[in-house]
Amino acid sequence: MKLVKTIEEMRALSNTVHSRGAHLGLVPTMGALHEGHLSLVRAARDKSDTVAVSIFVNPTQFGPHEDFAKYPRNLERDCGLLEREHVDVVFAPSVEDMYPAGAVTWVTVEGMSDRLCGRSRPGHFRGVTTVVSKLFHIIEPDAAFFGQKDAAQVAIIRRMVRDLNMPVSSEVCPIIRESDGLALSSRNAYLNPNERKSALVLYRSLRRAQELFDRGERDPAKLIATGKQEFAKDSAARLDYLEIVDPDSLESISKISKRALIAVAAFVGNTRLIDNIVVDPER
Ligand code: AMP
Repeated sequence: MKLVKTIEEMRALSNTVHSRGAHLGLVPTMGALHEGHLSLVRAARDKSDTVAVSIFVNPTQFGPHEDFAKYPRNLERDCGLLEREHVDVVFAPSVEDMYPAGAVTWVTVEGMSDRLCGRSRPGHFRGVTTVVSKLFHIIEPDAAFFGQKDAAQVAIIRRMVRDLNMPVSSEVCPIIRESDGLALSSRNAYLNPNERKSALVLYRSLRRAQELFDRGERDPAKLIATGKQEFAKDSAARLDYLEIVDPDSLESISKISKRALIAVAAFVGNTRLIDNIVVDPER
């Protein structure tokens, strides 16, 4: 496994891979890797000749009062995990390389970037689409692997890829959860034992909504109201949003007549967590 820290070296390596005619798969991450990330790496390993994983805590997707400075970073541990998964290249550039002084160019998916997390984290998705575009230009992957855990990110990146004719296929992998249902997240490391218990309210609220859906309810307002009741029971968790939207456009829907995304975000203590499930009336 090669650890690459400069854009130049990454480009040279990608050129070599392409000149061999090999299929290059990319897994973009911010590090602090867990089984959720590794499931993406395994999917990439299955479907690619060469697997690259990027590790970059991207400052432009954090708000001024968010956790950029304290976000967990452990490149050595991450590289150990990736080596065991037979990853070929880890790309871990510096912030200065990725954002040279005076950088003022952004990639924005308008409208969609203001929905769900975009509403409570202004500029977040602009940071995500900008850094993913940069990674696509530098690494030139044939396929990129993302987690359904960040469902809005998936929809926004897919729209960007379509709108800008990027020659990359986006693959989406299922959410990996702890045995009690909590979605794995690098931010779970912030939770103290009580918060860890409270954090389950996100998944519980989604399950309540899903159970009502399974009993035939198709009115999003009723499903949302049921999900919200779970939050009323737990004062340690503060709901940011619980919404039901079209998974492709992220627009609200008034009746569930096709696949729908139930997405939740909440603060548990100071930690902001997200989760989602997809319901499908045709299944
Ligand atoms: P991050 O390092 O948080 O930016 O995440 C990198 C990638 O891993 C994103 O595509 C996430 O959606 C994905 N990911 C994070 N947590 C999970 C999880 N629990 N299950 C599946 N994929 C995940």
